[in-house]
Amino acid sequence: MEVKCFVCGADDKERVYVSCIQGGEEKKVCVLCLPVLIHGAH
Ligand SMILES: [Zn+2]
Repeated sequence: MEVKCFVCGADDKERVYVSCIQGGEEKKVCVLCLPVLIHGAH
């Protein structure tokens, strides 16, 4: 299964990813980008 961060596009296997739902779709985001999502940088 391919994991790719939908924010930065990283697919580094050593990075930690978490699942989230955006627009009814499941997406993966790496922990480095998670703070960006939390703080809502649009
Ligand atoms: Zn990322």
